[in-house]
Amino acid sequence: MNMIKVNLDRKNSAPYEIRIGQNILDRMGLIITKNNWASRYIIITDSTVSNLYGEGILTILREMDLRVDMIDFPAGEASKNIQTSLQIVDRMIDLGADRATALIALGGGVVGDITGFVASVYMRSIPYIQIPTTLLAQVDSSIGGKTGIDLPQGKNILGTFYQPKAVFSDVAFLETLPPREFRNGLAEIVKHGIIDDVEFFNSLEAGTEALENRDLGLIEEIIAQSCRIKCRIVEIDEMDKGLRRILNFGHTIGHAVEAESGYSISHGDAISMGMAAAALISERLRYLPSGDRERIISLIRRIGLPDRIPKVLSPDGVLSRIKRDKKKEGDIIHFVLLKKIGIPFVNGSVPEALIREIMEALEE
Ligand code: ADP
Ligand code: ZN
Repeated sequence: MNMIKVNLDRKNSAPYEIRIGQNILDRMGLIITKNNWASRYIIITDSTVSNLYGEGILTILREMDLRVDMIDFPAGEASKNIQTSLQIVDRMIDLGADRATALIALGGGVVGDITGFVASVYMRSIPYIQIPTTLLAQVDSSIGGKTGIDLPQGKNILGTFYQPKAVFSDVAFLETLPPREFRNGLAEIVKHGIIDDVEFFNSLEAGTEALENRDLGLIEEIIAQSCRIKCRIVEIDEMDKGLRRILNFGHTIGHAVEAESGYSISHGDAISMGMAAAALISERLRYLPSGDRERIISLIRRIGLPDRIPKVLSPDGVLSRIKRDKKKEGDIIHFVLLKKIGIPFVNGSVPEALIREIMEALEE
């Protein structure tokens, strides 16, 4: 089992541990019992994860003599809203949840975001624990304490920064994960290599075959290294004021592509296209050596991720979404570009014409 300590520099976020391993749920039960974070627990999960793993986890925790209940809601991003949050709160009140209750988020990013959000505001905040069950949640959304729900006007409009008491990532969950969801996680893993750690990038290049076969031993190590990278960045910039911006690599164009496709293109596929575009912009502006860009494209492809943008998406539509992106400040579009694999920087002066040219060059 890998363990990563997250040390945040704020009085109200105590340090906590992320544990990553294979079949770690029994040990998780012991750790929860020992830490005594609450007098009772409520698992929040979605319908899919509840069917696959709900009873098993209830049994494990109840065998430890913990008092545990479970609340589930329909699987899917469409559930990440205020109605679902209020339904969860209703059920919590019915169950008699008080400030000595902790929530357990069992599921992917949707479950994690909504559970963290409810925990951060229920009775002025109660503790929560994360059990991420998607690769994306294990390497990305479970780290950093961002919680949130969507409103009709946009994603994550309501949300908080709120850190969990602990994170337990069991790679055994990944055995039932559909390929599309698996690729979502892979894209963020590749991103972590590109923005922070050329050695990690090398090991991904060496491990593409094992990844394809879902070798859980290797995947555990990859998740652990990916988490370490994201943790170090979040520790320096918990509130997303500076350094954390580099985690946005591939996301400026990626988010716009995702939205312009009406979310028919998944997050992972969209940010892969965005990473290919950001690498090409970096090369055209003479920051990134061609060889580095070629390695990035080749890894993206070998891992089964797309590096070309479907022709049906108009460059104009994507561009106007980039300009509307909340991350822009004033008229400047902040792009994360690269000097090398592992060396990113933020550039506020990428000409619009170049973005358009790159989108056309990457059309498929
Ligand atoms: P993310 O934001 O992490 O991609 P979501 O919460 O949107 O995650 O989950 C994506 C989908 O995968 C949901 O339908 C969810 O129910 C399902 N899911 C989550 N974990 C698993 C798993 N271990 N096996 C199968 N399906 C899963
Ligand atoms: Zn992302």
